[in-house]
Amino acid sequence: MEFDLTKVSPEDRKEVERNVFFGTVDQLKAWARSNSLWPMTFGLACCAIEMMAAGGAHYDLDRFGVMFRTSPRQSDVMIVSGTVTKKMGPLLKRLYDQMPEPKWVIAMGSCATAGGPYVKSYSVIKGVDQIVPVDVYIPGCPPNPAALIYGINKLQAKIRYEAKTGKQVTG
Ligand code: SF4
Repeated sequence: MEFDLTKVSPEDRKEVERNVFFGTVDQLKAWARSNSLWPMTFGLACCAIEMMAAGGAHYDLDRFGVMFRTSPRQSDVMIVSGTVTKKMGPLLKRLYDQMPEPKWVIAMGSCATAGGPYVKSYSVIKGVDQIVPVDVYIPGCPPNPAALIYGINKLQAKIRYEAKTGKQVTG
């Protein structure tokens, strides 16, 4: 049966427009994924304290569907919060490789983004994007929990935008 929206009453038309959504299965999956991000915590230094605070009762990351996991196999986003040393780099990469697809990375703080105060140190990697692809960069030393929440919101928007347009957005 064909449904012609021009032939229904204005009230019914309003009701249909309010309740019927059109989209692809990929968009539906992206919507679900973006609202249930499970981060693999990678707290490496002081920024990790702010990440932990974001998960606490006051900022309550759970309300965005964000549940911290301790296993890479249960995670789809890695939040790198802290200084990535050259010794830690290969281990971080190995854990990233163990995460199932699709997966994303957030570089939290200036250390994870570009080396931070240790930019001249021989032992620090100048940005985690030298080892794994980064989707969202959050500046600050340290960024506060609100900044992390903003970064997570940006990642959610990116996931949904990519599913909608088929375009890849780089970090
Ligand atoms: S960016 Fe600043 S607060 Fe964050 S880990 Fe580096 S030194 Fe610590």
